[in-house]
Amino acid sequence: MPTCRHCGFTGDRMHFIHGNGPRKDVCAHCGVKMGLVSEEDAVNLFSNEVANARLNLVSRRWAPFFWVTLLWNAWFFFIRDVNIWNWVVFGILLLITLTLPVLFLISSATYSAKMEKVTPDYKRPDGH
Ligand SMILES: [Zn+2]
Repeated sequence: MPTCRHCGFTGDRMHFIHGNGPRKDVCAHCGVKMGLVSEEDAVNLFSNEVANARLNLVSRRWAPFFWVTLLWNAWFFFIRDVNIWNWVVFGILLLITLTLPVLFLISSATYSAKMEKVTPDYKRPDGH
């Protein structure tokens, strides 16, 4: 993994601009800031559409954990004292809580594929 020589960013090769001399080991952000590459070329970092699409995917992926936490709180504060139903809701919540990590692991490949689809290609020269 290369390190940007201007800001010290360390990351994937896809976040770096390509070229020799002043363009060597410069991240896309510093490249745009210093005028080495245009914003259109570094679209994977500077497009609001890409950022929105990524945020959408991330929030969809993590939303179930938010809801389960909310439902557990609802159970604890409101449903716990309701006879019979508290155990029904408890069982359902327990089932959801136990299956959620499994579903999360299973869907990780789909998630990364969707993330890859959303991310525009950053043209790589031959040999990279
Ligand atoms: Zn940099």
